[in-house]
Amino acid sequence: MEPLRNFIGHRWVPSSGTAGLDVFNPARGLVIGRTPLSTGEDVDAAVAAAARAYPDWSETPPVARARTMFQFRAKLEEHFDELAHLVTTEHGKTLSESRGSVRRGIECVEVACGAPSLLMGYGLENVASGIDCVAMRQPIGVCAAIAPFNFPAMVPLWFLPFAVVCGNTFVLKPSEQVPLTQQRIFELLAECDLPAGVVNLVHGGRGVAEAICDHPGIRAVSFVGSTPVARAVYQRASAAGKRVQALGGAKNFIVVMPDADLDRAIPTIAESFYGCAGERCLAGSVLLPIGGAHAGVRDRLVETARSMVVGDGLDPATDMGPVISAAHRDRVNGYVEQGVVEGARLVLDGRRRNLPDIGFFVGPSVFDAVSPDMRIGREEIFGPVATVCPVKDLDEAFRIMNGHANANATSIFTTSGKTARDFAHRASASMVGVNIGVAAPMAYFPFGGARDSFLGDLKVHGRDAFEFYTDKKVTITRW
Ligand code: NAD
Repeated sequence: MEPLRNFIGHRWVPSSGTAGLDVFNPARGLVIGRTPLSTGEDVDAAVAAAARAYPDWSETPPVARARTMFQFRAKLEEHFDELAHLVTTEHGKTLSESRGSVRRGIECVEVACGAPSLLMGYGLENVASGIDCVAMRQPIGVCAAIAPFNFPAMVPLWFLPFAVVCGNTFVLKPSEQVPLTQQRIFELLAECDLPAGVVNLVHGGRGVAEAICDHPGIRAVSFVGSTPVARAVYQRASAAGKRVQALGGAKNFIVVMPDADLDRAIPTIAESFYGCAGERCLAGSVLLPIGGAHAGVRDRLVETARSMVVGDGLDPATDMGPVISAAHRDRVNGYVEQGVVEGARLVLDGRRRNLPDIGFFVGPSVFDAVSPDMRIGREEIFGPVATVCPVKDLDEAFRIMNGHANANATSIFTTSGKTARDFAHRASASMVGVNIGVAAPMAYFPFGGARDSFLGDLKVHGRDAFEFYTDKKVTITRW
């Protein structure tokens, strides 16, 4: 199969690397594409094209830059179903999950369209007698993003529209496991009135990511992926003098109070654990039922998980698609085995499901009697495995949650306003859900965790994006 091409300086060019990786349809286990493992030379070419485009693009009025994002939005909307289909084909999540994620990506473009207002600076007359002062935002240069496999359309759109509308030029490295959606999105970008070199796409793996971190021509790097790589990218790119935001892995806790309305809570909780086959950085991972909530919530979660239809995400009857690869399926199954060895009680074994005999499927599992120091209670599994860790009260829940290295998202299910308010106030995770299973901030709010789930200062999208992608210049004037 022909490897994909890179998009550099408005041209589709072959990678200079000779090696490549197969791209799979994980529901079928079939090869559907090939990612070229591009080289530092390809990154040099992309940065050179972006640097050439920068002077004119950064001088283009914000309203004209925003107009290209309106165009881009229209293209994404026009190809909405096709893009969602592509996400399901290369990632595996269900079509409705893919639609939701493409929608979230489009919302980022919509927020970026508001750049003329959101880029405004501020000023004050007479900071001293006859002296005025204004602060203006200016773009910073060539920016780059490195993406993970789990949201092939959405995660790159957390960055590209904001970087570009602020007047920067951009280089994207998609995940080598899911390059096809971005390939298509760049074909759509190529049809917008963006000058050559404003947006560039370089396919590849670790080599390309490291070349981005080291490249002296890149001013800012955004990364999303696992915590060890987030840390490596953060250290490497910031040592090279760049502005960096690095979003890492997660271990998300869901607290269920005895007063929770289980009829409403259980479908939401099950969706949090098993939606996208657990491959979401906001997925529920550890359930913390308080006191008497334990047996009821566990049994109903098991019942719901058992009834889920596992299959090809393109089939409308499917509730849960495959995981991304054979290696990841084996890793998730390895965690299930590990949980048994550690002494947790496996009340629903996803390995024993009647699963399709092709593709990379794992059934939903539920462990009970998990303790927070077990590996399954501590490490990110990134698969459809719920670990139930019963606790006596909220203080014990907080000791576990706030003592964990990750602090991405957490949720509480309760009918008490006071309990919910106290929970939101005390939780150390940065994204908090109250009777919400996946606490995902919309494109006009900041997205990102704390501690080992986020390295950097400014978060993703919302106003933070305009801060991350600009510098503030202050001019003090006396006439
Ligand atoms: P990953 O860390 O394996 O890869 C992410 C990206 O880094 C890929 O583009 C990959 O090519 C590149 N890469 C891999 N090794 C590298 C290295 N040593 N140096 C530089 N770059 C390297 O992550 P993944 O498996 O693609 O994605 C899943 C992870 O992403 C999970 O841990 C999940 O929690 C996390 N994630 C976090 C968020 C968030 O908002 N915090 C969102 C989505 C995914």
